[in-house]
Amino acid sequence: KQIYGAPVVGEHGRWLGVVIVMHDISELVRLEQVRKDFVANVSHELRTPITSIKGFSETLLDGAFKDEKMLLSFLDIIYQESNRLQMLIQDLLELSKIERQGYTISFSPTSLQEVLIRAVELTSPRMDEKNMQFAVDIKRDVMVNGDANRLMQIFTNLITNAITYSPEDTTITLRIKYTDEYGIVEVQDQGIGIEKTEIARIFERFYRVDKARSRNSGGTGLGLAIVKHLVEAHHGKIYVESTVGKGSCMKVFIPIHKL
Ligand code: ADP
Repeated sequence: KQIYGAPVVGEHGRWLGVVIVMHDISELVRLEQVRKDFVANVSHELRTPITSIKGFSETLLDGAFKDEKMLLSFLDIIYQESNRLQMLIQDLLELSKIERQGYTISFSPTSLQEVLIRAVELTSPRMDEKNMQFAVDIKRDVMVNGDANRLMQIFTNLITNAITYSPEDTTITLRIKYTDEYGIVEVQDQGIGIEKTEIARIFERFYRVDKARSRNSGGTGLGLAIVKHLVEAHHGKIYVESTVGKGSCMKVFIPIHKL
């Protein structure tokens, strides 16, 4: 806390009293720390691929290019690392856009069923790679008040995570439910699960339960931070239920479109 005091002096130098101003700056200090951590994280995340791209291209230029095997394997690494950089920059720009004050989405009546069908189509190739299948319980449609493209982004992100953090040959279940107020979408996996103590943190920027696993699978660590902002921009909510070793269920609540 910061405390300032000043005497209040009236006419003819008469003492009237003292004004004391107290500022609770703990929130400001915390925000400043969050900002510093973010900058440090971004720098680190950018430096890692760049160091690797630089190192491998230098080695190639020094003569390694003559060995065709080395040439191919190094080029492959350089290509993958530049992809990672591109994804990171895309996610950073996206996050900064939706975190800006006054960010709004264009609301219109949107079918959860249509959005989910598109999300399934988009993520199917990755499902096939891991020999995974969808089980869908989305026969009953619900119209919500939302932005179809933004909702797509939310669900493809959640499905992509469900694929990433699940073993091969498992199932992802998608459900549409509703209450009087909300259309609800559940994305349930049979994956590694998340510890109770980690659940609150996974929506933080760059927070990952297992850094190596997330990086190897191409994750930027920003996906759920983006999801949370998009859900909140819809005046919705997101909950996580999870059991380590059994799987996780992400529940997204989006306000129903009312006539
Ligand atoms: P990432 O790019 O690392 O996947 P996210 O912001 O999407 O970043 O997720 C943050 C972290 O939350 C992940 O690194 C992972 O540890 C955890 N996580 C997200 N979704 C799941 C899931 N379905 N099952 C288990 N862990 C998950």
